[in-house]
Amino acid sequence: METINHHLNDTLLMGYAAGTLPEAFNLIVATHISMCDECRARLGSFEAVGGSLIEDADAAVPMASSALGDVMARISGASRADDIRLPVAREARTFPAPLVDYVGGDLADVKWRSLGGGVRHAVLNTGGKATARLLHIPAGTKLPEHGHKGLEATLVLQGAFSDADGRFARGDIEIAGEDLDHTPVADEGEDCICLAVTDAPLKFSGWIPRIAQPFLGI
Ligand code: ZN
Ligand code: ZN
Repeated sequence: METINHHLNDTLLMGYAAGTLPEAFNLIVATHISMCDECRARLGSFEAVGGSLIEDADAAVPMASSALGDVMARISGASRADDIRLPVAREARTFPAPLVDYVGGDLADVKWRSLGGGVRHAVLNTGGKATARLLHIPAGTKLPEHGHKGLEATLVLQGAFSDADGRFARGDIEIAGEDLDHTPVADEGEDCICLAVTDAPLKFSGWIPRIAQPFLGI
């Protein structure tokens, strides 16, 4: 397990437990939980709350609760299978199990598209209103300063980046809302790979990224 310093917030955990998040946010929550004992335990307490809600109103909640059970069964099933078959491969893998399902493989299987400045991305096929993408930021590279019209969650899978909110390494998740403008910079020494989920386009401060934005789809 990684040492994780930046975790999911209650809103995302509760939404996940209730089954009300867009698919892209379900993916990033499931991926973080598969790496983080602390958030998995917190999710357990929200599930317990969800269970008591079922007793009060048994219309919509049971369906959400079983959908959650399916996801958790997939996650724990995948890690159990790994333990039995390939104890070494787990160490060598960059993507946790929930992400492997979406990519259809690991880092080497990603079909990257250039965003300029050496930065690459790959949009994942999650559907729904929110967008999930993988980001590849070369070591030492600075992303353009930007703000957010909605919510942006960024989970580090390899390397690390820093911005005004701190340093984020493998397993850490940054949750940025409309109050944060930031300029993430990847650490020197290793390229940074992240899973980033947004529910609205980003707001760029500089004019060049703003002009390129409609073409790049970010
Ligand atoms: Zn966590
Ligand atoms: Zn951002």
